[in-house]
Amino acid sequence: MADNNVLSDEQRKKFDESYKEKRSGLPVCPTCKSRDDVIPTVRGKPTHDLMLYAEEGNVKLSGCTQSYQGWCKKCETFI
Ligand SMILES: [Zn+2]
Repeated sequence: MADNNVLSDEQRKKFDESYKEKRSGLPVCPTCKSRDDVIPTVRGKPTHDLMLYAEEGNVKLSGCTQSYQGWCKKCETFI
């Protein structure tokens, strides 16, 4: 039986593929002047799988009201 709280490798690959373009166009963090810890933000209500993907630190969920270019994991701030 599949664990419902663990993202499957297959689904992760799909997400990696769909966020590849967004990842390559991420801005530099204005605080630490680096792009190393910047990940894409996802706006709107996430699916269960997307939430798991976000929990792994691949993307940052930004909620429904605001739109951002990215999230810096190091500074813990939206860009
Ligand atoms: Zn930063």
